Amino acid sequence: MNDAPEQRPRLKIADALDLAPAPERAQVTLPDHVGHYIGGSLVPGRDEDRFDNVDPATEAVLNTVATANEAEVGRAVKAARKAADGVWGQMSGADRGKYLYRIARRIQEKGRELAILETRDNGKPIRETRDFDVPTAAAHFFYYAGWADKLDYVMPGRRGRPVGVCGQVIPWNFPLLMAAWKLAPALAAGNTCVLKPAESTPLTAWALAEILQEVELPPGVVNIVNGAGATGAAIVGHEDVDKVAFTGSTPVGRIIMRQIAGSKKRATMELGGKGAHVVFADAPLDQAVEGVINGIFFNQGHVCCAGSRLIVEESIADAFVERLKLRIASLRIGDPMDKNTDIGAINSKEQLGTVNSYIEIARQEGATLWQGCANEPPEKGYWVKPTLLTGVSQTNRVVREEIFGPVLAVVTFRTPEEAVKKANDSEFGLSAGVWSGNEARLFEIAHALNAGVVWANGYNLFDPASPFGGIRHSGFGREGGIHGLYPYLRLEA
Ligand code: NAD
Repeated sequence: MNDAPEQRPRLKIADALDLAPAPERAQVTLPDHVGHYIGGSLVPGRDEDRFDNVDPATEAVLNTVATANEAEVGRAVKAARKAADGVWGQMSGADRGKYLYRIARRIQEKGRELAILETRDNGKPIRETRDFDVPTAAAHFFYYAGWADKLDYVMPGRRGRPVGVCGQVIPWNFPLLMAAWKLAPALAAGNTCVLKPAESTPLTAWALAEILQEVELPPGVVNIVNGAGATGAAIVGHEDVDKVAFTGSTPVGRIIMRQIAGSKKRATMELGGKGAHVVFADAPLDQAVEGVINGIFFNQGHVCCAGSRLIVEESIADAFVERLKLRIASLRIGDPMDKNTDIGAINSKEQLGTVNSYIEIARQEGATLWQGCANEPPEKGYWVKPTLLTGVSQTNRVVREEIFGPVLAVVTFRTPEEAVKKANDSEFGLSAGVWSGNEARLFEIAHALNAGVVWANGYNLFDPASPFGGIRHSGFGREGGIHGLYPYLRLEA
């Protein structure tokens, strides 16, 4: 026991971390089929155009999913209009708030079930869905419940009135949380909604529809239709939709903006990103290593605000990358239902192809590639080990384009001006992080970074009271906080 450190037997990290499995034990029955929730009823949808929903960690089919066509979308919009003009539009804000509180409480009560559904559907580790996605979704409903009877105080001297029927289209990376970001402020403001989950992650929205029934939300206030891009386009293009709220990729955001150009529709766009971490030599380095890893690897890089670029001061770059590698080599990849798992599965075969194609592009661009983990991924399923790219430059595609996978590109800087220039040299502007031990520098650099959200000595920190959103090709409009209410309100004098 008292051997000098150099005489102690050294375990390889992988051996030291050969943990016993710790599978989530709660049992949840998955639905065989996911349909639509229209006018307060769960309906199976048409027999045609059904598609399989695949578990990304095993490639097994979880269930089938219905595709809503224009007629079904039309029924959902009609139900939303009826509720907007009727029961929901005429209800007091205080009473609307009570429904939001009930939804929040029910999400908490069913937290374990929702976390399991999300993990099976999305492939992200149960630790994340249990400790972040589900509680944060509940927190958004709690937060906006408090606003429902205070709409006349959103902007002094103005009265807050609902916009009407909102068409909301969301991605697969935070399915329940994105639904909460969309629904909670819209409902608090007195609007009604037609929501479309992403085609590869319909399960938690389906469970949410059951929750809406359980809390007896009046029929038509929220409608959920499933399907892929054509269903999304039918919602966005429906003439009786007053507001479009989209979260997804920048290319699809552009298509939607073209589609609704010239119409009376309002819009908010939460699009892609290429977040930068700027790490100065005087930064708290262990904290920065954790922040960088949390910012890109813990959700397989499936985060719009992922810190996918590391811009590190040249004097510490090699040492910092070595620290990163050491920590990454301790991360466990595999079964997302195991509580020991750090890195889950890539959400779909298609996304796996995209990530792998960028890794190939990095090779062709001459990058030095390093991949690590504590263990080998399972044979079945869609996996990418955390990947570091060094020897890259600002002009490389892997530094400029959104990969949406666990791939971190590393570039260096010598002066603060160079760091800011490199961080801002992007068509996106969603998120950025700065790491330094000098507070004056933190403030100076944070102000100089062109991004909707900037974290200082931290990353991926969220609070329902705090607005989130992008600039440039990362979109416009904010979700969260009082700013998240503005797009859902007509502010009258
Ligand atoms: P995606 O753009 O492919 O799809 C998003 C949603 O749009 C899906 O529901 C899809 O079915 C639907 N859709 C596709 N084509 C459509 C069309 N023509 N009209 C209407 N709807 C259509 O994005 P994705 O792959 O699901 O998600 C990943 C992207 O989302 C990344 O770019 C990520 O950065 C972005 N994202 C942004 C934020 C943010 O807050 N800014 C948050 C999460 C994800």
